[in-house]
Amino acid sequence: MREGIAQAVRRADYAAPAYWIRSVELTFDLDPVRTIVASRMAVVRNAAGTGGPLRLHGEDLEPLRVLANGQSVSFRSEAGELVIDNPPEGDFTLEIRNTCAPEKNTQLSGLYTSGGGFFTQCEAEGFRRITYFLDRPDVMAVYTVTLRASKSRYPVLLSNGNLVEQGDLDNGRHFAKWHDPFPKPSYLFALVAADLVAREQHIRTRSGKDHLLQVWVRRGDLDKTEHAMNSLIASVVWDEARFRLPLDLDRFMIVAVGDFNMGAMENKGLNIFNTKYVLAHPATATDEDYAAIESVVGHEYFHNWTGNRITCRDWFQLSLKEGLTVFRDQEFSQDMSGSATARAVKRIADVHTLRELQFPEDAGSMAHPVRPDEYVEINNFYTATVYEKGAEVVRMMQTLVGRDGFAKGMSLYFERHDGQAVTCDDFAQAIADANPGSELARTLPQFKRWYAQAGTPRVTARGRYDAPTRTYTLALEQACAPSHGQADKQPYVIPVAMGLLSRDGQPMALRLEDEPPATATERVLVLEEARSFYTFVDVDSEPVPSLLRHFSAPVTLVDGLHDADLLVLLAHDPDAFNRWEAGQRLALQRLLTAIRNEAPLQLDAAFVGAMRDVLRHPTLDAAFKAQVLTPPSETYIAEQLESVDPQRIHAAREAMVLQLAQALHGDWEWAWEAHQVAGPYTSAPEPAGRRALANLALAMLCLDATARGDVLWQGRAYQRFKDAANMTDREGALWALLASHSEMADLALPRFHDMFRGDALVLDKWFALQASAPERDGRVFARVKALLKHPDFTLHNPNRARSLVRSLCGDNPAAFHRADAAGYVFWSERVIELDAFNPQLASRIARVMDRWAQLAEPYRSAAREAIARVAARTDLSNDVREVVTRALET
Ligand code: ZN
Repeated sequence: MREGIAQAVRRADYAAPAYWIRSVELTFDLDPVRTIVASRMAVVRNAAGTGGPLRLHGEDLEPLRVLANGQSVSFRSEAGELVIDNPPEGDFTLEIRNTCAPEKNTQLSGLYTSGGGFFTQCEAEGFRRITYFLDRPDVMAVYTVTLRASKSRYPVLLSNGNLVEQGDLDNGRHFAKWHDPFPKPSYLFALVAADLVAREQHIRTRSGKDHLLQVWVRRGDLDKTEHAMNSLIASVVWDEARFRLPLDLDRFMIVAVGDFNMGAMENKGLNIFNTKYVLAHPATATDEDYAAIESVVGHEYFHNWTGNRITCRDWFQLSLKEGLTVFRDQEFSQDMSGSATARAVKRIADVHTLRELQFPEDAGSMAHPVRPDEYVEINNFYTATVYEKGAEVVRMMQTLVGRDGFAKGMSLYFERHDGQAVTCDDFAQAIADANPGSELARTLPQFKRWYAQAGTPRVTARGRYDAPTRTYTLALEQACAPSHGQADKQPYVIPVAMGLLSRDGQPMALRLEDEPPATATERVLVLEEARSFYTFVDVDSEPVPSLLRHFSAPVTLVDGLHDADLLVLLAHDPDAFNRWEAGQRLALQRLLTAIRNEAPLQLDAAFVGAMRDVLRHPTLDAAFKAQVLTPPSETYIAEQLESVDPQRIHAAREAMVLQLAQALHGDWEWAWEAHQVAGPYTSAPEPAGRRALANLALAMLCLDATARGDVLWQGRAYQRFKDAANMTDREGALWALLASHSEMADLALPRFHDMFRGDALVLDKWFALQASAPERDGRVFARVKALLKHPDFTLHNPNRARSLVRSLCGDNPAAFHRADAAGYVFWSERVIELDAFNPQLASRIARVMDRWAQLAEPYRSAAREAIARVAARTDLSNDVREVVTRALET
C-alpha cells in the first residue's frame, strides 16, 4: 500500500463496471480481534461491457474462501484487488468469506472499534476494508445484513433499513437481521454493535405514515440528545414542506461515536455522527454547538434524498451530493432562524466560512474545481471547494431561476434520476430544463464553468455618474487567476444582485436604458462577458452602489468604494449582508494600510463613530452587531496580501481590537449590561445573539482592563466564569480572560478542567481555547507544547487531536508562524506521527501549509523546508504524499 507513488485517478477515464452486484447478504461474526465476514452476492454481467475478469476491491483483508455458484473458483490477490479471471458465464452467485481486524483499524475507515463498540465508516472507499466488493458508487445493491455478537458486550445491533429478525444464539451471543429495501452504493452501508441507549420519537408525516426516530448514545448521555432529536424532527418537516421530499423509511437512526474522522455520515437510515454533532446540554454546549448540531443533523438527513436516493456516478461528482446538500442545510438553518436579520446573520456566517476556508484553498497548492479532474486520494477531496463553493454554485442556480423555479428543478431532477447514480451535468440540466425561459437555461454551458474551473474570480466594478443625462453607468469586469493545470480561465456567468442608494441612504428605483419605468430597488445583473456596461437612467443624484448583495456569487469584489460610500452602506443598506460587508471593508482598509506601510494602526474618529452607531443602534439585532463589531480575521486579512507576514497582521489586528475596546469603553459597558439573558437557557437566535454581544463586550472590557492594569473587569469575568448558568457564558468569560492575557486565566483554566474532567467534548474545548488564544511572547505556543504531554491528550482521538494541533496550526497564525520555525517543526512532527496510524487526519492537518508560498521571509523558506522534510519520508500515506507533493510544486 505504501510503496511508490500512487497513480492519479482521472475523471476522463470513467468507464461503467464490467459487472453489477444487484443484491448482497452479509453475515458478521463480530470480534474485535478477528471478525469474520460472509458475503453472498448476486453478480450480473454488464450487457454493455466486455466481460473479462471480475476485479473486486479489498484492503487489509484476509480471504478465507471464494465460491461461484457454490463451487470453489480460483482467484488472485493483486494490489488492493481480488481478481477472478474466469467467472462463470451469465449471472451467478458469488460467496466470499474473509476476516478483518476492527481493533487494529486505527484509520477509522471500514469496521473499527470505539469505546468498546463496533462502528463502520465506508465513504468514500471504506467498504473494501470490510469485505471484497465493487466498491464504487455506481454499483447499487440491496443489502440484507445479519450481525452476530456477544449479547452482554454488544446488546444493540444495528444496520441499514428495517429490523426483520432478532434472537439469542449459543455461548451468550445474539443476532439481528436487517434488510434495506433501497438499492444503495457500498459507501452507504453501516453497522453498529455496542452498548447504547436511545431517545425515541414516533412521528406521523404529512402523508399519514408513522415513523420511528432514534438517537443512540452511550449510557449517561441521554440527557444530551433532546436537541439532536428536535433538529431531526424539524429536518423531516422542512424537507417535506420546502421540497416535498418525505421520509422514505419506517425507521431513521442516528448513532453518536466518540472516534470519528469527520462530522457525520449519511448511511441509509443509520446516520453515524461524531458525538460533537449530537450531544448538547446547556451546561456543556455553546450556542454555536447547538447551531452546528442543527445544521449537521439537517445535512445528513437531507442526504437521504440528495446523495442516497440519487447518488454520484463516480467520486469526481462528489459535489453533486455535497454542494447540493450543504445548500439545503444552509437554507434549512435560515428558514429555522426566523427573522430577516437572523437569516442574514446565518448568511454572513456561511460566507465567513467560505472566505476563511475555501478562498485560501482556491488560491493555494490544492486548488481544484468543484468537480475535480483528477485525484490521487479521494479522501483529500472532501474539501471546502466541493462542499462550500459547491453550495454557492447551487445557490447561484437558485438565484438565476428563482426560488420556485429551483423547487421545480428539484422535482424534475427526482423524476428523471431517482434510484440512479448520476453526474453534476445531470443536475444542472434538470434545473435548467425545468426553467426553460431562465437565465440559467440560456447560459447553461457557460454557467457550468463553475464546475470546471478552479480559482476565485475577481469582479472589478467602476461606476460613473453623469449629472446632465441623469445616468449612472456601471462597468463590471471579471478575471480569474491561473491555477494548477488551468492557465486560461474563460468568463463565468456571475449573478450580481445589486441596488443603488442615494447619498442619504434612500434606495433608488433601478431602470436600465431601453427598459420601461421601474419601481424595483434591487435586481440581479448577470455578467457573462469579460466586461459589461450597465447604464441606469432616471438617476437623480450620484448613487452609492451596493453590489453583490447577499453575496450572490463566490467572487472577490473590487469596487473601489471610499470611506464615505462605505459609511453610507454601513448605515443604510437595506441588504443586511452588505451592511456588514461595508463595516468589514472599513476595518480591512485600515488594517491593510497599517500592514503595508509598516505603520502603527491608529483608528480615526469616523470609523470609531460608525462602529459606535452600530453598537448603539436601536433596532439592529444583537447577533448582527456582534458580527459587525468583530474585525476581519487574520486569515482573511492575509488573503488580501501578496506577501504575508503573520506577525505584522496579528499586531495590526490586535491594535485595532484594543483601540475599539478603549474608544468604546462606555459603550461596551452598556452592551454588557443591556444584553444579559435571564431565565432558562434556549438556543434560539434572539437570546443567543444577546449572549454573543455580551460576551464580545466582556472580552473588550477585559482587554481594556488588563491594558490599564485594572482588575475590576477581570474579576467580573472570573466571577461570571464561576457562576455562569450555561457553557456559552462560561466559555465566553474564560475566553475574555485568555484573550486579554489576564493572569486570572491561570486560575480559571484548572478550575474548568476540574469541573468537566469526565466530559470529552468539553475537554476538547479546554484544549482548543488554550491553543487558539491570541499569541503574546510565544506563550501560547509554549503552552500547546506542554499540553501535548497532558494526561488527557492523545493524538488517537480525532477530536482531541484537532482541538490542540489544528487549533494551533490552522486557527492561530501568530502562534504558529514563528520566526524561529518552531511552529513548522511542531507541524511536521505531528503530521508524521499521525500519518503512521490515521492518514486522513494527518492529511487534513498537513493542509494548513497550503498557502506557504504566499508567506514573507523568513517564514517562507522555513515553511518550505518543513514541507520538504515531510515529503522526504519514504513511508508516507497517499493522503499526505499528495498534499505535500502538491505543496512543493507551487
Ligand atoms: Zn454531506
